[in-house]
Formats: sequence, structure tokens, C-alpha cells
Amino acid sequence: MTDAADIPIRVRPEIAVLPPYKQGRQADANAFKLSSNENPFDPLPGVVEAVSDASSFNRYPDATATRLRTRLAERFGVDLAEVHVASGSVAILAQLVQAAAGPGDEVIYAWRSFEAYPWLAVVAGATAVQVPLTDGARHDLPAMAAAITDRTRAIIVCSPNNPTGPIVTQAEFDAFVAEVPSDVLVILDEAYAEFVTDPDAVNGVRVLETGAHPNVVVLRTFSKAFGLAGLRVGYALGHPRLLDAARSTAIPLSVTLQAEVAALASLDAEDELLERVRVIADRRDRLATALREAGWSVPQAQGNFVWLATGEETLAIAEQFDAAGIIVRPFAGDGMRVSVGEEESVEKVLGIAASVVKDLP
Ligand code: PMP
Repeated sequence: MTDAADIPIRVRPEIAVLPPYKQGRQADANAFKLSSNENPFDPLPGVVEAVSDASSFNRYPDATATRLRTRLAERFGVDLAEVHVASGSVAILAQLVQAAAGPGDEVIYAWRSFEAYPWLAVVAGATAVQVPLTDGARHDLPAMAAAITDRTRAIIVCSPNNPTGPIVTQAEFDAFVAEVPSDVLVILDEAYAEFVTDPDAVNGVRVLETGAHPNVVVLRTFSKAFGLAGLRVGYALGHPRLLDAARSTAIPLSVTLQAEVAALASLDAEDELLERVRVIADRRDRLATALREAGWSVPQAQGNFVWLATGEETLAIAEQFDAAGIIVRPFAGDGMRVSVGEEESVEKVLGIAASVVKDLP
């Protein structure tokens, strides 16, 4: 094959140097995959049945996922036009960022946060403005407000923050949006909302209910609490004008019939699924407490994962976990994220963590 550099096709320079998304290692029979914040419970039989019954896939799906949007609109007490569905909330992030920001524009977000944010800004041709987290691995919202310029077009707030875990409080968020110019899009990414137990946490639905900030769009997903990561379905709630802009940049027909019916069946079984979420949140609290007791500094954990600030040792420690059958998500030089998985994985994580912590400087 010709060397890639010899092919005369032009690629945007910022894309030419952008590495494609790389998924972590898949689990084998001897390992727990705690690297992608997936739901460890098997899908509910009713959901599996709904998916296998959805067999008319010789036809295209409903491009606007009307049945699911109608159901979500009822669920949240909003109009149909105030709900948007796509193949994962990351797709909606991409649509919104592209709709709001282009070359010369700025997109602000906290860092470290969800890895897709810098990637989305680059793909849109916009400039990423990263505002460091505080020492407690929390969003520094006053610093994010101070970073706003007349080029700012979008701001992403992630609560609970992936990968570090803390929430943004309602009071912090309210004070922050009050300072954001009303023509700047604020994306409140609540991918892990259902796992939150801190009563002070921001609640995007409540923010929208006030009607005070039509520039806020709230993102949620069926991937985590509802266990549909493999089917790809997420949703946004917000002002129709912003969601229409997302719909305009969306790749049409991306939400499959199977994804739509699985999400509907999951909403039918919401109580049962939220009971599982409570089990995972309890497991998370036990894991975080035990890790702290073992000497680890673990920030507030409000998603379905915990963060270990392993610094320069991160890759070496992640390898030790890997060798012991626990696949984590390492972020070189910074820390590693461990998802809350199966019950049996908790003891195993604690066992390895206890032996590793002795060797930490
Ligand atoms: N936002 C955050 C903060 C996430 O962690 C993730 C998934 N890792 C997503 C959005 C995207 O999830 P999905 O596309 O599966 O809905």
C-alpha cells in the first residue's frame, strides 16, 4: 500500500493529527471490565423481548423517534418539540457543538472531564478552552464563567463529572448560568444523573422547569442507568430552537428501531431499573469508603465509578489491576477511573487497591 503521506488528498490539518477513538480492552472470561462505566446487570427479559420482536428492519426507522420522544415528553412533562433523541448522548453533544460553534469560536469545558469534549470542539473547527478542575476534582464554575469571551459559543458542564465523580451543586449551577450571556449555549451533561444521591446536586430537569434559562440543554442517556449502551440511545431536553439546530446537524435515521423499542421497554420497567441503580449506588459508596479507609484519596463519587488519583504511577498501577483481572480506564499521568461493576468485582478491586497503596509514594 502507498504510504499515507503520499496520497494527495487534503485532510483538514487538525483532523490529520487527531487520533481516532480507541476503545479500552474488551473483557475476557477471567477479567472484570470496569473501564467503560457500563451497567453490570444483564438486560431485562422484557427489554430483550421487545428488541427481538422489532423485526421489521427491512424498513428505515422513524427518523424522529416520535414514540420515544412522546413517551419522554410525558415522563418529563414537556412538549414533544422539547425532546430530542439520537444514537447516544455523545451524538447529541456533537450535533449541539457543531450547531453552535465553528472556526474562530470557543467551547468551554472543565478539564479533566469527558474525553469527547476536546474531540468534538476540534471536529467542529472551534477552539477548546479547558478550565482546570479544583483540587477536589470538581468543576470550578467561577473560573469557567471568567473564561467566557465574546467568542464563546458553547459551554459544557458535566455533573457528575466523568471521570472524577463530583457533582455540581444546584446553587453553583444557578449562580453560574446567571453569569452566562443568554445567547451562549450551556450543555448540562447528566449522563450519570440517575446514580446521584447528593441532595444538593444540580437537576437539569428542575433548571428547565423554571424556564429562566432557555440557553440550557440537558443531556441524558439510556446507556448507563438503563443499561442500553450497546444499542446507542440518548436524549436531550431543552428549548425547541436549540434542539431544532441539533436536529439540523444530525445524521438522519441514526436511531434504530431496536434502540427505540428498547428505550420504550426500559421506561416501562423504570422502577425495576432504578432499583438496580440504587444497588449500584450503594456498591459505589461502599467501594469509595473502603478505598478511602485503605488510604486512597477518592473524590466525591456520584456516578457509577470512582476516581483514583494515581498521578505519574497511573499506567503502572493500571497494569497491576489488569494483571489481577480488573480492567480500568487509565488517564496517563493523572489518574484512573474504576467503574462500579458486579458485586464480586468490588472485593477484587479492594484487594488489589490495598496491595498497590502500600507501594505508593
Ligand atoms: N457524557 C458523559 C459524561 C459520558 O461519560 C458519556 C459516556 N461515557 C456520554 C456522555 C455518552 O454516552 P452515550 O453516547 O452512550 O449516551
